[in-house]
Amino acid sequence: MTEKYEEILKRQGDHIIGSNSHSAVKLCHWLKKSIIDQGECYKSKFYGIASHRCIQMTPYIGCNQNCIICWRPTGLSTSFGRMDSPEEIVDASIKEQIRLLTGYKGSYRADIAKYWEAVEPRHVAISLIGEPTLYPYLDRLIDEYKRRGLTTFVVSNATRPDVIEQINPTQLYLSLESFNEEMYKRLCRPIKKEGWNNVLKSFKILSEKDCRTVLRITVIKGMNTEPEKFVPLINMASPDFIEIKSYMHLGYSRQRLDRDRMLDHEDIKNFSYVIDKETDYKVTDESFESRVVLLSKDNGKNRFIS
Ligand code: SF4
Repeated sequence: MTEKYEEILKRQGDHIIGSNSHSAVKLCHWLKKSIIDQGECYKSKFYGIASHRCIQMTPYIGCNQNCIICWRPTGLSTSFGRMDSPEEIVDASIKEQIRLLTGYKGSYRADIAKYWEAVEPRHVAISLIGEPTLYPYLDRLIDEYKRRGLTTFVVSNATRPDVIEQINPTQLYLSLESFNEEMYKRLCRPIKKEGWNNVLKSFKILSEKDCRTVLRITVIKGMNTEPEKFVPLINMASPDFIEIKSYMHLGYSRQRLDRDRMLDHEDIKNFSYVIDKETDYKVTDESFESRVVLLSKDNGKNRFIS
């Protein structure tokens, strides 16, 4: 990793962990809100995740795509030699989360009961920056968190079908911005040519997974706003849930896209109701603040994680 990249990550509040500097942890915006009783993440509303007990981390800060919506600076080279073991990353991520929470202990704004719960994390969102499937021991990392009693949400760009086949987190997300190869090249700008074929392979594999599965569609105004064109891919992946979310004008994406590329929540709802009409999925819940709508096949009967 170049010094420049490390500096940028630090400025963004990403804390590098481990001996080989390829993993990071960041206190999530919603954890900070939750601990002062000012709101919860949409994953709390949709799936019952306790925001203040969630670690937001990545085991690999590099990526094989350069998406225009990405919050991180794209196009900077990252190559790592040795990789930390899953045990080291799990230890370091929990330790760093607890360290980052220290300031809340004496804060008059914090709900102290929540603070004491927060220092015993229960969930891990493996979705901070970078592509987690590029970490070679992702399956073992998920198992190690599980062994320590934490649930895992993994978000992947679907470019590594071999890894998608192998892993079984609590909930597996595949991102979807493009409904064909041409759009994929324009929006996701993959480093390798075979990117789109691999994405299709991963969608097929998703339909056969035993774990809970989600397709997350990020909509960018004027670029991929044709919901009916996503239907064949939705049918191919056959996830348990679909999240339809607006592009958010944050981080480094602000240098690539204008603010008016974000959709209003109302537009996201309209998009979602087309999917509702054209597929077996039904609109189940929504979060106005995060501009996201949840669709499910069973009206959300089994959506809460116990
Ligand atoms: S796949 Fe994710 S981390 Fe990689 S460039 Fe795209 S948005 Fe960024």
